[in-house]
Amino acid sequence: MSKFESGSLEEIQSWVSSCIEDQKAFRICGNGTRFVTKVSGNSESISSNILSMQKLNGTRFFDPDDMVVGVEAGMSIRTLQKMLAERNMMLPANPWFPDSCIGSVVACNDFGPNRMNMGGLRDCIIGIEYINGKGEIVNAGGKVVKNVSGYDLTRMMLGSQGGLGVITAINFKVMPLPVEPHGMHGIFKDEAWLPQVGEIHKRRIPLDWIQALLTPDLSWILGLGYSGNALNRNRIESEIREVFGKTLDVHPEGGSFPGQKFTPGEQRFGGFLKAIRDAWEMEDSHFHVFATLPTEEILCFPFEKFRKENFKITVHPTGGDIHFMLKSTDMKKQLQYLEKIKSVLVHSESKLRWVSAANEGSFQELGRFGVANGYFLTQRLKRHLDPSGVFFAPYYDLEFDA
Ligand SMILES: Cc1cc2nc3c(=O)[nH]c(=O)nc-3n(C[C@H](O)[C@H](O)[C@H](O)COP(=O)(O)OP(=O)(O)OC[C@H]3O[C@@H](n4cnc5c(N)ncnc54)[C@H](O)[C@@H]3O)c2cc1C
Repeated sequence: MSKFESGSLEEIQSWVSSCIEDQKAFRICGNGTRFVTKVSGNSESISSNILSMQKLNGTRFFDPDDMVVGVEAGMSIRTLQKMLAERNMMLPANPWFPDSCIGSVVACNDFGPNRMNMGGLRDCIIGIEYINGKGEIVNAGGKVVKNVSGYDLTRMMLGSQGGLGVITAINFKVMPLPVEPHGMHGIFKDEAWLPQVGEIHKRRIPLDWIQALLTPDLSWILGLGYSGNALNRNRIESEIREVFGKTLDVHPEGGSFPGQKFTPGEQRFGGFLKAIRDAWEMEDSHFHVFATLPTEEILCFPFEKFRKENFKITVHPTGGDIHFMLKSTDMKKQLQYLEKIKSVLVHSESKLRWVSAANEGSFQELGRFGVANGYFLTQRLKRHLDPSGVFFAPYYDLEFDA
């Protein structure tokens, strides 16, 4: 395996241009979390030519008054959120792992529990710099929020999974940190909390996040997060009590729920999933599948069935996603668990992703749930934007019946 890395944009550009000239494919790497994906059965297709972005990790600009920041793609989420928090701000994204690189999070269009109320990455990207399939450095968007000029190339790279160009820097509009964030938490022996969350959702009570996960003794710990001055918080707490009665206790953010290794709402801007996997002692070979479903499907999801089979589950009911984990390392069994999950997914919009498995989980095993909307258009776009096929990304090599 040959790896190229540099902290200089010019050096990276000339390396990419030489790969284009020699038609030598390479894989763009941030922190490498997603780096083994089997495509159509043979992992040989994974390029051994790696471009590592971790050294390109500087701050291009930071204007706290205008709440805009420009950083290079190799900077980690942890570093960015720390820099912003020092000025009472944050990037409204919920990365799973703290050391993921910003360029990767944008290339994967990563999302998390906050997107229903805070929007996703696409709502806070205002500019992008990338190296295209001709080796040119492209700048799209700008450094100010009101840059609406021209075709929106900025968002074309969002979710490009490393197949349409090398993202080198991104400009974001950031947000103030939530004011006095709090959470209301409670333990439930069964899924009685689900219809109540449905009622909260129907009443449009302004929450920042909702997160529930199974505890080691297979009860549920539920958290509802909100923020604001005391008056606002009291109003929200009384509305929540109208639905949940006295089953939930109020906790200022950062406080841990007694007896729990992970308290819903913790580390949501800086790697919550790593904290959950650590709390459950999940290893890279254990079964972990991530599902995105419409809220209405989550509110009637047969969780009891999975709870009774010792699945470890984290769920974000609104704007929904569910993480299914099991401490099994038997791939044959893991594929059976996957079929069990697929058998209860109804909605055509539901999607599945392997996060970890005994062997590399393949897109094919996910079936129709593995295909992103508009997938075939992205394949065509890639052929156009990467004519020499240098940006190796397994995501683009899937064969599905149209
Ligand atoms: C299947 C799966 C789904 C996931 N979904 C989410 C999610 O929804 N939300 C979440 O927070 N985390 C998610 N994660 C967790 C993962 O931490 C993030 O995807 C994170 O973006 C990975 O960061 P990394 O730096 O390790 O990326 P890597 O694994 O190094 O790269 C990830 C992908 O991005 C491409 N890439 C990296 N840098 C660049 C760049 N500068 N320019 C262009 N392309 C680049 C790579 O080629 C690769 O395809 C997911 C992980 C997996 C395995």
